[in-house]
Amino acid sequence: MQVPQQLLDSLTGVAGFHKEAFIQVHESGEQVTSIRVNPGKWSMVNGEWSKNIGLPPVPQQSLNLASATKIPWSSSGYYLPERPAFIFDPLIHAGAYYVQEASSMFLEQAMLQTTDLQQPLRVLDLCAAPGGKSTLLQSLISAGSLLVSNEVIKSRAAILEENCIKWGGANVIVTNADPSAFERLPNFFDVIVIDAPCSGSGLFRREPEAIGEWSEQNVALCYQRQQRILASALPALKEGGVLIYSTCSYSKEEDEDIADWLMDTFTVDSLPLQTNASWGIVETRSDKHQACGYRFFPYNTKGEGFFISCFRKQESGSHSAKPPKKSLLQKASRNELAIIQPWLQPGSPMQLWKQKEELLAFPQQLEKDLLTVVEHIYVRRAGIALGKIAGNDLLPDHALALSTIISPSIVAVTLKKDQAIQYLRREEISVSALHKGWTLVQYEHYNVGWIKVLANRINNYYPQEWRILKRADAGDV
Ligand code: SAM
Repeated sequence: MQVPQQLLDSLTGVAGFHKEAFIQVHESGEQVTSIRVNPGKWSMVNGEWSKNIGLPPVPQQSLNLASATKIPWSSSGYYLPERPAFIFDPLIHAGAYYVQEASSMFLEQAMLQTTDLQQPLRVLDLCAAPGGKSTLLQSLISAGSLLVSNEVIKSRAAILEENCIKWGGANVIVTNADPSAFERLPNFFDVIVIDAPCSGSGLFRREPEAIGEWSEQNVALCYQRQQRILASALPALKEGGVLIYSTCSYSKEEDEDIADWLMDTFTVDSLPLQTNASWGIVETRSDKHQACGYRFFPYNTKGEGFFISCFRKQESGSHSAKPPKKSLLQKASRNELAIIQPWLQPGSPMQLWKQKEELLAFPQQLEKDLLTVVEHIYVRRAGIALGKIAGNDLLPDHALALSTIISPSIVAVTLKKDQAIQYLRREEISVSALHKGWTLVQYEHYNVGWIKVLANRINNYYPQEWRILKRADAGDV
């Protein structure tokens, strides 16, 4: 793998850059595989809601976690000794874990060290697809906090939505808007995460095909686009709120120079982070304002190239978002509540809403936030889609099966791996289910979806657009 000479030249003088080590690590062919497990779901499997459980949550059969090692800056990330064919592991479709590059899990440290995660927070993940940072943020924030997970590109917003559904949290709104739309929510968010579109040099080792797209002109274009995105987002951040900016580019223009531009343009303070020397993360300072940044080189740190920098907004005007006028959402009726209640975990403090025929659950204490976001931004999905009512019955949505608010008393059948793969292909499955009607299918305790057991057949309700198409002999993923 040949890295562009112009990239090598442009990195001369960048903190922590060693040309020979950089060339060597890209030629080595070494691949690092890492996953982050879903603490919300594991807690549920074990019938308790504590997140402070030190054992690997994913059952051993699927992922060889016995030989995995912890990622030191992450509470739920693991390096795997080899890359399994993830697509054929039903647990990934159940949202038990997410395949995420290790360096980007450092976002956890940025959140922990700059924010009080016990407080109810409003968090915006502005450039969120496919959802790596959003699923991490979901795991970090409290149940009384709100995550708005936004992606501007429609097709990518669909993938973001899928990954958020699989992760299962109810306190998430997925939006599909240009960053400028968030100017309609002035002083709204406590934290804004901008994992900016960038020239992508940090991923060259993992995605060599991206090398051909790298150019100095593209770095310059990305620099301008990053400025536009930041300028759109800053008004939506509260006074005292935290901005977390990251890229997977090594280029100083997209990293330290953006930090200097930000400090020139807005009244923000740079926030330092603590790192452990053994993690190999390079602490950098911008030229003009000495803003703190943290750069990950794959020859120093076990992960791909990454840069992150945090800021606190000093002052803001007194604007606030206009209150909602007429909502697109209505509260569910008494009858609808009575039909839905047995499907939900007892005592879950959810407000039920109706949009057209669809019912959804959203945390009660976030009602005002929900209505405000719905009023101002195009929402793809809010909370947990529950399904539709037909007569006196619920036609349950797939999202309910994967959610962390579903009742543990719903009848379920356990599938073996080959049956689970058949189910995920949306093929006919045969199981000996005694119960007729809606039934959850589970794999190793995790909900995978719904079937409906009829007198003479079983209907498979796995979403058509998510089904596995790939054959096992078609290679790895
Ligand atoms: N945060 C994501 C994660 O962890 O999975 C990765 C985000 S990726 C680095 C950057 C995202 O920004 C892409 O999904 C891309 O579609 C989106 N994007 C591209 N152009 C944009 C723009 N002008 N404004 C906002 N987002 C943009």
